[in-house]
Amino acid sequence: MRAEIVSIGTELLLGQIVDTNAAHLAEEFASIGLSCTHRQTVGDNLGRLVAALQLALDRADLVVAIGGLGPTQDDLTRHALAEVSGQTLVLDSRLEAELRLLFASRNLAWVDSQLSQAMRPVESESLPNPNGTAPGLWIPVGSEKVLIALPGPPRECLPMWTEQVVPRLAVRLGKGVIHSVTVRTCGIGEAVLAEKIVDLLEGVDPTVAPYAKPAEVHLRITTAAASPAVAQEKIEPVLNQLRERVGEFIYEIGTRTLQEVLIDELRDRRQTLSVAESCTGGGLGARLTQVPGSSDVLMGGVITYTNRLKTQLLGVSESILDSVGAVSPECAEAMAVGAKDRLQTDWALSITGIAGPGGATPEKPVGLVYVGLAGPKGCQVRECRFRGSREQVRERSTQAALVLLREALQSD
Ligand code: AMP
Ligand code: MG
Repeated sequence: MRAEIVSIGTELLLGQIVDTNAAHLAEEFASIGLSCTHRQTVGDNLGRLVAALQLALDRADLVVAIGGLGPTQDDLTRHALAEVSGQTLVLDSRLEAELRLLFASRNLAWVDSQLSQAMRPVESESLPNPNGTAPGLWIPVGSEKVLIALPGPPRECLPMWTEQVVPRLAVRLGKGVIHSVTVRTCGIGEAVLAEKIVDLLEGVDPTVAPYAKPAEVHLRITTAAASPAVAQEKIEPVLNQLRERVGEFIYEIGTRTLQEVLIDELRDRRQTLSVAESCTGGGLGARLTQVPGSSDVLMGGVITYTNRLKTQLLGVSESILDSVGAVSPECAEAMAVGAKDRLQTDWALSITGIAGPGGATPEKPVGLVYVGLAGPKGCQVRECRFRGSREQVRERSTQAALVLLREALQSD
């Protein structure tokens, strides 16, 4: 099935906002086997909007219009869709009642322009929007094609796609459900991973689609079947292949993040963790404390940016700082051991490095980072040489620290 995205909004054309919705949806298309053949961006102008939608409908089976569903004068998507589908626009009294109720329940003053959000082409189905006021639209055109309208705000658009559109597409394709499982890997680059599973990536059913995230690669395995249980049965052999070939890099089959997996694992072991950070300035602690309930495991940490505090708070010896400096394996080790002893935890992670853009020397370039881990059986340090901006180096550093901990827990 060929799909086309039409992003609507003058602000997109002016570059004032970036079209993240189209990027995310295109990824979603790939994972359920829709091929995205074209994308268009068009401003808030009825004539041009109708022309764009008509063009899309001529060459694609599924047209997804994003944006322009608000209640104001420049929100024209409903009118354009009615015109292109050859249907009249009618006021849906059930939608009107729901909208009035929503406004009343939030103590918002009703304005009649809001009624436009209760209008829909006569043969369309409205798509509920639990995250906002604009319902989406599902408009069959003939027996073969469908026009879809989704609201612009990403936190409304993307859930509507997953929760409302995908199940309807599955029914339309006669396949019951579209089911996917995400395999999350860390510690391996996308290219190396892809090489090991190239045949699986070429698979048609189930499909396996890689998503490179910051410092991680996720694989989304998707199939359509009569029921979720049957779909899971089809996915299982692919999962087994992945476990066999790249199992050591898989940290989760499901939805947990790396820090969630680590916190859960340490909680199961009844062990505790602390952090000692320099160039990441608390970034590692921030990632760990994103996890609800992390206080069961993470006792706390210190940010020791200066040499003085590395010595005072963590006991890093002045001789290390004078001889090899703060960005060194010796310092990373002393920071981790110092945190483990002084904060009295089973494990302690440390990070010290040069995030850039300044501070580099010929021997110590930007992106040179040492991550340390002190644990029940001793201490280890890993040298990393990252490329990228200050923010990327800092993000990759926290990731490297978490990966080091994961590897240690696996082999423990
Ligand atoms: P609209 O429904 O067109 O009035 O869009 C409402 C808001 O959603 C816009 O002001 C943007 O902040 C956001 N938005 C609209 N379209 C997109 C898009 N394609 N990608 C990301 N954000 C968008
Ligand atoms: Mg708009």
